[in-house]
Amino acid sequence: MTTSLLRVPPPQGLLRPLAVPERLLLGPGPSNVPPRILAASGRQLLGHMHPEVLQVMDEIKAGIQYAFQTRNQLTLAISGTGHCAMEAALLNLLEHGDTVLVAVNGIWGQRAADIARRLGADVHELLKPPGEYFAPWDIEEGLARHKPSVLFITHGESSTGVLQPLEGLGELCHRHGCLLLVDAVASLGGAPIFMDQQEIDVLYSGSQKVLNAPPGSAPISFSKRAREKMLRRKTKPPSFYLDMSWLASYWGCDGEPRRGGRQEVPVSIRDLLPPLCPQGLESSWERHQANCTLLCQGLRDLGLELFVKEEARLPTITTVRVPEGYNWKEITAFLMDNHAIEIAGGLGPSAGKVLRIGLMGCNSTSGNVDRVLRALRDALGQLRRSRL
Ligand code: PMP
Repeated sequence: MTTSLLRVPPPQGLLRPLAVPERLLLGPGPSNVPPRILAASGRQLLGHMHPEVLQVMDEIKAGIQYAFQTRNQLTLAISGTGHCAMEAALLNLLEHGDTVLVAVNGIWGQRAADIARRLGADVHELLKPPGEYFAPWDIEEGLARHKPSVLFITHGESSTGVLQPLEGLGELCHRHGCLLLVDAVASLGGAPIFMDQQEIDVLYSGSQKVLNAPPGSAPISFSKRAREKMLRRKTKPPSFYLDMSWLASYWGCDGEPRRGGRQEVPVSIRDLLPPLCPQGLESSWERHQANCTLLCQGLRDLGLELFVKEEARLPTITTVRVPEGYNWKEITAFLMDNHAIEIAGGLGPSAGKVLRIGLMGCNSTSGNVDRVLRALRDALGQLRRSRL
């Protein structure tokens, strides 16, 4: 018998079949994946330049154009999560020394500022406490003072539950010679956004929230103004994988023959977009709003205090203050252990202050609102009793 050269044994854990428990994911994402999308992931692969794949890519692009309400040619899906799209947007738009203004009212502005600093940009932050949003005059003052070439703002601040109004911001930015970059990872499909009408220059999202898919596909789109800024770059973007000129070519966005050999596209992401089509975006927005309203009423009936003022509540993720005398970790653990429901605590500036409840895509139903409210009532009762 030959002696094995292997010194590292095969991991025993990998030899056991994977058991995935049934859970209702009502945190800030990921959300549950419906059977139709699960089945799509089981399909056989095709080559990345096969005509069928190129056709699927065109269909994905049209789906994103619909979801974003844009006719931008440079529209595609990055193979990566929301963070990847955030980096792609910033590193393609910014060069060393460029001035960027970042609206920070939660963790996503903080992250964008961090990424921009790593790129060597001159970063200025416009600050608001968690739970608040920016008015046009806040933005105008920042634009006039810092004269940035890019403004970053988050549409759905998932760490605080705020929906940022976008009306007029694009026009304001353009009057000040600045591009508008918007993060819609937590809001796309759940709250209205109109990329072209609102003059947004770069918009991106993710797949594991309202689109109810596994993480790993991030829709992104660039306006003509944003493309022009990228064409004027003096230096190459500091990432090969995320260089938009290459990706634009592979996705057939530049009117030239496609160059392949880049990111492989999971064909299954084509299956994310149809749910937004037959029912329509508008009915998706209405459903998310209606179920959020129902949830907020139920939370108030439980004696809980909502964290965000009514006019700025994000319909996909609701934040409620951790009730006096309770530990948020005990509440989330109780829901998980006794009801198989995930909700989350705060994140970044909202950590320890709030509970976050997400109702996204197929999870946004009145049945799920009832389920989570019943589970919360149970948790508040039991946890209080255990202290008496
Ligand atoms: N932006 C926002 C507003 C988000 O909610 C998230 C994810 N929670 C991200 C960006 C990052 O996305 P991902 O987790 O897919 O990398």
